[in-house]
Amino acid sequence: MDPNGAPMYILKEGTERETGPAARSTSIQAARAIANAVKTTLGPRGMDKMLVGDSGDAVITNDGRTILDELEVEHPAARMLIEVARAQDESVGDGTSTSVVLAGELLGRAESLLEEGVHATVIAEGYRKAADKATDILQGIGKDLNGRGRTDHLRHLAETSLASKAVSSARKGLSTLVVEAIEAIAHDQGGRTIVDLDDIQVQKAPGADILETELVDGIVLDKERLDARMPTAVDTARIALIDAAFEARKTEVESHIEITDPEQMEAFLAEEEKNLRTLVRHVEESGANVLFTSKGIDDMAQHFLAKSGILAVRRVPKATMERLAKATHGTIVSSVRDLSGADLGAAGRIEERRYAETTFTVVTECKDPKAVSLVLRGGSDQVVDELDRALHDAMSVVATAVEDGLMVPGGGASAEEIAVRLREWAPSVGGREQMAVEAFADAIEEIPRALAENAGLDEIDIVMALRKAHHDKGKSAYGVNVLTGKVEDMFRAHVVEPYAVGKQVLDSATEAAVMILRIDDVITAKPSEGGGGAGGMPPGMGGGGMPGMMPGAGPF
Ligand code: ADP
Ligand code: MG
Repeated sequence: MDPNGAPMYILKEGTERETGPAARSTSIQAARAIANAVKTTLGPRGMDKMLVGDSGDAVITNDGRTILDELEVEHPAARMLIEVARAQDESVGDGTSTSVVLAGELLGRAESLLEEGVHATVIAEGYRKAADKATDILQGIGKDLNGRGRTDHLRHLAETSLASKAVSSARKGLSTLVVEAIEAIAHDQGGRTIVDLDDIQVQKAPGADILETELVDGIVLDKERLDARMPTAVDTARIALIDAAFEARKTEVESHIEITDPEQMEAFLAEEEKNLRTLVRHVEESGANVLFTSKGIDDMAQHFLAKSGILAVRRVPKATMERLAKATHGTIVSSVRDLSGADLGAAGRIEERRYAETTFTVVTECKDPKAVSLVLRGGSDQVVDELDRALHDAMSVVATAVEDGLMVPGGGASAEEIAVRLREWAPSVGGREQMAVEAFADAIEEIPRALAENAGLDEIDIVMALRKAHHDKGKSAYGVNVLTGKVEDMFRAHVVEPYAVGKQVLDSATEAAVMILRIDDVITAKPSEGGGGAGGMPPGMGGGGMPGMMPGAGPF
């Protein structure tokens, strides 16, 4: 109230506000609900989710990020978990479900501690310390994957990632393709190995079994040759890569020409024709028998190219042009006049191939290609889409491992080792933070528990056996192999993951849990006229901003 007795509004009328323990509690509940939905998908025996959109189209997947992307989640705290999945996916490409599940478990245990009177800040601090320690523990049990058996290790990493996908029955063959693809594009940069997944061209071609999925030592374009008179195949291809149009009319100088009589018209057309002939002659003289351009080729140029026996493809996307350059060791030239023999790429063969309904141009037999292609096959669009997601994860895993060089045991082994070692370490932290460290240990032990439970195994027996192996016998690589039901050495069972994925799980799950824990105020703006709620976003949250829910909230 102001001195005159009139009410004073600080927040816009209609704004909803929740503060203190209530705000935190609803945030935690919302986030946990999301985490629990993901938990049943975890691991090779996890369930799939069928997501049906507004228009009735269905996606069947157990890919954590895809599930979360498809859900139209309203609560801002729950949306933060979706951000965790996204961050995880973007940085290392796998471990999305695990990070969301861990964040949910951390929040669940935080709630109990809050009820016991431990302050949110203390829990947050304890969690951070535990995560740092956990990262050290994880690194400590890592194995160098370079040296002897490197290719096998990489294949096992890919297989472990693929094991939890709908396409897992094809994982042996697929993992071989994945490793070959990554090894082909890995390159040295300032003494470090770098893998850029953009160097892999992925084409989807439903209409055959998954096992027909193919790695091509070059580039597969979903485009056909420009003219039926051009050759359908070229051996010993010499390839011009041009970032310029083959169009006479678009000369840079004369942008406007006035033609007053037919003779002038004829002269103009003759000039045009001459220009195009010159362009095509340049291409020919460079020694090229194949031409890819990112721009257009007009009818007359097309005619001349066909007459010269040059296979030409136009409007090739920029990214594909770059991959073509890397695969064939050619140079993209921005003016035809500058083209010389030294710029040409090389490929043993270029041919058109039909995959089910689509004709692709396949640039193959490239020497030491630094860009390669995968042609994904599957019985239906849905299968190919799920294969695409699965291979994305597997390729990211192998790429991360190649860059990082360290692998850790999967099947909950790393998680159990962290749990056991954190419990031993907790007393040295002392005070109330110790309780948070112990809660962290309990939370991460939910990973092997969920893997076992999802596989229909007795999770209590499994966790007890794991604790015994890790605590009493120092078997740091023992996990639960859900394919055999056994508690065994995961390195020996070839269930392995990149260290970097595990580290990222610890980082992103802890950060999200801490952020949600620190919320003590949720202020939801009144929907603005007409524009509210688009895409399932809560009012006032368009554009991904999160007003009113930052830790210690806002200017009010
Ligand atoms: P995320 O999205 O976190 O990668 P997934 O559903 O892909 O979740 O499951 C990954 C988990 O499955 C990892 O903890 C991995 O170690 C585990 N896993 C893979 N293969 C096996 C196996 N044979 N036995 C037990 N766990 C396995
Ligand atoms: Mg996975």
